Amino acid sequence: MPDPAVLFTDRSGFPPDGPPRAVVRARTVADVQRTLAEAGRTGTPVVTRGAGTGLAGGAVTGRGAIVLDVSGLDRILGIDPVDGIARVEPGVITADLDRAAAEHGLMYAPDPGSVAISTVGGNIATNAGGLRGAKYGVTRDSVLALDVVLADGTLLHLGHDTVKGVVGLDLVGLVVGSEGTLAVVVGATLRLLPRPARVATAVAYFASVTAAADASIALSAAGLRPAVLELVDGRTLAAIDDLRGTGHAGRGAALLLVQTDGYGAGEEIEAVAAVLARTALTVETTLDPATAAALSAARRDALPAIEAKGRVLIEDIAVPRSRLAEAIDGVHAIAAATGTDVFVFAHAGDGNLHPIILVDTEAAAQQAADDIFALALALGGTVSAEHGVGLLKRAWLERELGADALALQRRIKQLFDPAGILNPGKAL
Ligand SMILES: Cc1cc2nc3c(=O)[nH]c(=O)nc-3n(C[C@H](O)[C@H](O)[C@H](O)COP(=O)(O)OP(=O)(O)OC[C@H]3O[C@@H](n4cnc5c(N)ncnc54)[C@H](O)[C@@H]3O)c2cc1C
Repeated sequence: MPDPAVLFTDRSGFPPDGPPRAVVRARTVADVQRTLAEAGRTGTPVVTRGAGTGLAGGAVTGRGAIVLDVSGLDRILGIDPVDGIARVEPGVITADLDRAAAEHGLMYAPDPGSVAISTVGGNIATNAGGLRGAKYGVTRDSVLALDVVLADGTLLHLGHDTVKGVVGLDLVGLVVGSEGTLAVVVGATLRLLPRPARVATAVAYFASVTAAADASIALSAAGLRPAVLELVDGRTLAAIDDLRGTGHAGRGAALLLVQTDGYGAGEEIEAVAAVLARTALTVETTLDPATAAALSAARRDALPAIEAKGRVLIEDIAVPRSRLAEAIDGVHAIAAATGTDVFVFAHAGDGNLHPIILVDTEAAAQQAADDIFALALALGGTVSAEHGVGLLKRAWLERELGADALALQRRIKQLFDPAGILNPGKAL
């Protein structure tokens, strides 16, 4: 059995404020119900966790809490190719579900960078995004119905097992992204899509990060909607070169990775390449999966390459797509002003930037993070696009939501969880 202390934190690096009272490794829905009924009776906080890959501190334990590990509820209960749905338990690893769907010619679209290590339940609780989000949206767009256990141990089925259904309020929408504060997800009915017949890839290098961001905006303006549209800045390219011995930084100051999919993928990628070629230094396209994997390696290597340089703060803001270039310029200006090393890669199709701050001094890194959050709000964006609020971004909630909307959300939390035992002090 692994060291239980790994169950007390997540990948945010945020330390627990003390040891939990107990760890429950649930194997059945009844285990979850019994745990919550007992916690409700004794007023004990419950911190639910999947794989603990969260980056916002959502699964970090509080002193005296019960850690409720649901990663052992890990069965794919069924895949129905005709209805285009999967029924799963929350501990299923996301990539395993996509692999199982592939056996039926189907795809589970949400593909966070952590697809091979995070759980479907954790993805639902954080409303995780992914590389294919540019075309297929975020986890919310793939969730039709949920089985949840409420704070008093009651088991409820929310939503519809059909692709359409409007009866009742959208409680599934409330639970998705609620970071374990409203209910524990113990089952899900998920939408599957036909697996694309073809995937085409383009990689372009640019003379500046602004030119790359502008090119990503030009793709939208041209009416193109790639499945994947990722940007990597020059500092990150140099870090990848340091890690892998590659020569990206010598080819340009920023890179765009674009993928189109479906029967017309080849035709669409040529249209993409024509737009990129207007401003790019070089553009390369391929339909060959092995060449595509080689071309996309830089994007996959981005985070590990930066992490190899030292301790990092992984940020996650989003701005309207049209303001992506302004946001990236703003982040670089903040790095200069705070004397911090900040690397940027972005899900450009969603206007979602990951500024990664290398922590030299704690104070400078925190100042840079705060300035980046303020920049996101000033550009009409959000302080968290996909990682969640957890512990790390609570101080920014009221500034983003406004006092009245935040108070309404806290009243909703009270309705679900009157005793306030579900992940207290997180997200809301
Ligand atoms: C290398 C790396 C890459 C990443 N890339 C991305 C990315 O591209 N996009 C993205 O969105 N995120 C990304 N993440 C962040 C993280 O993987 C996601 O937030 C993921 O959804 C967390 O899943 P998990 O199973 O690890 O959940 P955990 O970290 O265990 O929990 C996350 C939150 O969900 C709650 N929770 C977990 N399971 C349940 C449940 N069954 N019921 C109720 N609440 C629950 C927890 O209380 C906590 O608040 C990345 C992380 C890493 C380390």
